[in-house]
Amino acid sequence: MSNEQQITGQANGHNGIINYEVDVSNNHIDDFKVLKHSETPGIFNQVVDTLKQNIIANQSFDVDTISGATVMTQALLNSAKSAINAADVKLHSVPTNTEHQDVELTADVVVIGGGEAGLVAASRALSLGHKVILVEKNGYLGGATILNGSNVTATGSKVAARIFPEQQDSPEQLFNDVTKESRNTNLPELTKLMVNNIGSAIDFVSDYADLTYQKAQTQTPEHSVERQIELPSASSFEFIKKFQQHLNKTVVKYF
Ligand SMILES: Cc1cc2nc3c(=O)[nH]c(=O)nc-3n(C[C@H](O)[C@H](O)[C@H](O)COP(=O)(O)OP(=O)(O)OC[C@H]3O[C@@H](n4cnc5c(N)ncnc54)[C@H](O)[C@@H]3O)c2cc1C
Repeated sequence: MSNEQQITGQANGHNGIINYEVDVSNNHIDDFKVLKHSETPGIFNQVVDTLKQNIIANQSFDVDTISGATVMTQALLNSAKSAINAADVKLHSVPTNTEHQDVELTADVVVIGGGEAGLVAASRALSLGHKVILVEKNGYLGGATILNGSNVTATGSKVAARIFPEQQDSPEQLFNDVTKESRNTNLPELTKLMVNNIGSAIDFVSDYADLTYQKAQTQTPEHSVERQIELPSASSFEFIKKFQQHLNKTVVKYF
């Protein structure tokens, strides 16, 4: 007869209490669910997915924490381990090979960092047919980008032509606005690089990751014309999620 148990508990997360449930049958972990939390969703969802896979694969809460979210994942693992022990569940852990391995990889392009800059660079290189390695130190993608509001300048893009059909904007005008706002402290070569390429970059990311930009609610006064766009969620978590989905279809292997 199956002996099913739903063991609930609480762990101290980074932003407060995390309520979770461990589903067990016959001393086997079937599922690990988070019921309620106040963590940053973009980071938390990725971290908990990985943690859950590791817990179930190992049938144990003695698994590695996720880098970039060490305190929170350790709190969850400690708490769930105590809850399981208190419920007198005897887990049969499945040892997995965690020994250090040297792996030699080759690529045309190596991108360090999986925030928006790295994801776009890697995706652009992939789209040009290059073999790419993307290295991310955290156990999740997104970096600081996950926290941003997705508001960007669309000057020179087809996206801007759709959203601001009446607007007279140009790379030169954006260059002048940047220079004025930064009181000539900007590096002109970098500003030129940005103003001349932001349009094609916006069109590339929109097509590549199926992003549907819209007019940003906030058009800040340093811009002499309306040119700011944002994602419907007003969050770059959407950007990271869609790039991740796209890469999951094309990327060969995660380490
Ligand atoms: C709250 C907030 C709101 C914002 N809102 C906006 C906005 O609306 N519009 C806007 O344009 N900008 C906004 N910004 C700024 C914008 O988010 C950043 O400029 C942008 O995300 C930087 O992207 P990035 O890819 O360069 O860096 P990140 O997103 O930080 O990515 C860098 C990645 O590199 C990884 N990494 C670092 N070192 C290594 C290493 N040695 N090996 C492997 N990986 C490594 C990091 O873990 C990280 O994942 C906002 C920022 C914040 C914090």
